[in-house]
Amino acid sequence: MTIDPLSLLFIIVAIGFIVLFVLLPRYGPHYTSRLVCPNCRKAFNFHWVPGATITSIIQRGRRNLKCPYCHVKSNYDIMSTRVAKPKNASKVKQKT
Ligand SMILES: [Zn+2]
Repeated sequence: MTIDPLSLLFIIVAIGFIVLFVLLPRYGPHYTSRLVCPNCRKAFNFHWVPGATITSIIQRGRRNLKCPYCHVKSNYDIMSTRVAKPKNASKVKQKT
């Protein structure tokens, strides 16, 4: 059985899509943003993944989020309030 180049290309694209939309959001880098609600002035942490969803690609560094305290929806700049860098697999590098 031989695989023609077109179906081979389709398989490569399909694998690329799985990596981009399934594996990266789950196991890829995570960011934490320290956000302050403009309504009740309370600070809360928000965990997010860069470029994981279609909305994050469209909205870039901004997210519409509900405040966990007063439940008022506001638009937050999660890019500039980022506090944590993506975690590196530091546990793997441990020396014996
Ligand atoms: Zn609030």
